[in-house]
Amino acid sequence: MSFNIDRNGKKRVVIIGGGFGGLRLARGLRKSDFQVILIDRNNYHQFPPLIYQIATAGLNPSSISFPFRKIFEDREDYYFRMAELRAVYPAENMIQTSIGKIDYDYLVLASGTTTNFFGNKNIEEAAIPMKTVTEAMGLRNSLLSSYERSVTCSSEKERDELLNIVIVGGGPSGVEIAGAIAEMRRYVLPKDYPDMDVSRMHIHLIQGDNRLLPGMKEESSAKSLEFLQKMHVEVRLNTFVTDYADHEVVMSDGSRIPSRNFIWVGGVIANPVIGLPEECFGRGRRILVDEFNRVKGQNNIFAIGDIALMEADPAYPKGHPQMAQPAIQQGALLSRNLRVFASGGTPESFRYKDLGCMATIGKNKAVANIGTFIFGGFFAWLLWMGVHLMSILGVRNKLFVFLDWVWSYFTYDRSNRMILKARPSQEMNELEKRMQETHWGDIAPEERNQG
Ligand SMILES: Cc1cc2nc3c(=O)[nH]c(=O)nc-3n(C[C@H](O)[C@H](O)[C@H](O)COP(=O)(O)OP(=O)(O)OC[C@H]3O[C@@H](n4cnc5c(N)ncnc54)[C@H](O)[C@@H]3O)c2cc1C
Repeated sequence: MSFNIDRNGKKRVVIIGGGFGGLRLARGLRKSDFQVILIDRNNYHQFPPLIYQIATAGLNPSSISFPFRKIFEDREDYYFRMAELRAVYPAENMIQTSIGKIDYDYLVLASGTTTNFFGNKNIEEAAIPMKTVTEAMGLRNSLLSSYERSVTCSSEKERDELLNIVIVGGGPSGVEIAGAIAEMRRYVLPKDYPDMDVSRMHIHLIQGDNRLLPGMKEESSAKSLEFLQKMHVEVRLNTFVTDYADHEVVMSDGSRIPSRNFIWVGGVIANPVIGLPEECFGRGRRILVDEFNRVKGQNNIFAIGDIALMEADPAYPKGHPQMAQPAIQQGALLSRNLRVFASGGTPESFRYKDLGCMATIGKNKAVANIGTFIFGGFFAWLLWMGVHLMSILGVRNKLFVFLDWVWSYFTYDRSNRMILKARPSQEMNELEKRMQETHWGDIAPEERNQG
């Protein structure tokens, strides 16, 4: 396999990752004098803020995903390649990927983060992450098949394990998935499973911090706790999960909760990038960048979004929050700055404009912090819906999400409750295997699994 992209006299920008940052950058390079190559391990862009609705059968995966090739169909000198970054060779201006090597004039790392299990192998093997659309579909299958098995299993112990849900992490993802499962328990399961004793289903939300949503104002934390408690979610603050054994989640205070639905949204760590010098990495494996998103010590390698750690923005000396807006704003500025770098001008420094943050807990319930304003309840929920609808890529996707929301608002129904498992073809399995095994270049086997 190889890239099969010829040089055409233009400078070449290679972007790794078509998430919020990488996609914004690629779109901003339209009508530039660059040849643009976007590389992503998936052939679609995804919209993580609504991933929890895939996991809880509220939305269809295709409503929050968008194929890259569709985005770039009318562009000249734009190329998409589905591949995985393996390593960077800065001295040769070259990268190694799962489909071969390619050289660059400018390289932009926008490959985001992955779930952080803090090195605990037991937890990593047992827990269900919810970081991508595929993982959310895995979680949906797991929840739905647990409900199915709970009505056919023969022991009460197993029934409790199947019905108990433990969610670890009280940030926006944890709060949102807890609220969505609680609504499912109240409105959907009693109708779908008349022979299930829904009162035996307990939803636990475990948070290490002393409040939920620690990135938001304290009033919003308190409000989200109040909303969840009213929905009978059992929230434990100041508690860490330390292990998982014998179908039980083990807590720092020694207590245990039997559960086979152990959802982990307890933190993220930057996706690994092999080949950059050690001094390029900071907290959470994030890549240290200057005020132009240029990687420390490098002239033509940049990092944007969740993977970047910029300490040069005076208002954010510890780096920007790992959220969509910093990634989008950095992608937008870098699309202008790359032109400036190429022409020898003076680039503009990045300054983050905080547009606020929000989280929804269920129907008519959300919290939002916008500037100095703090909203909670119905208005915040309307705001949350409006902002998310506007941000989803594509008119069709906006429409489908809107219709699904209207449908479930009035019917309390979730339309995507099928357990769907794909059976890959022999060709797909072989390709996957080949991509895993080949194109490692001179990367040593012990370096390959840094993620
Ligand atoms: C469940 C969930 C809910 C969230 N909700 C919100 C929210 O409500 N509001 C908010 O502001 N933020 C939210 N976030 C955070 C937000 O999604 C991220 O901050 C944002 O996506 C970061 O953008 P990015 O471009 O840096 O990376 P991402 O959007 O993560 O994109 C990274 C891309 O790189 C690709 N990739 C990764 N590794 C490789 C590799 N080795 N080779 C090739 N491609 C690779 C991935 O496939 C992906 O397309 C949420 C995140 C999650 C997981």
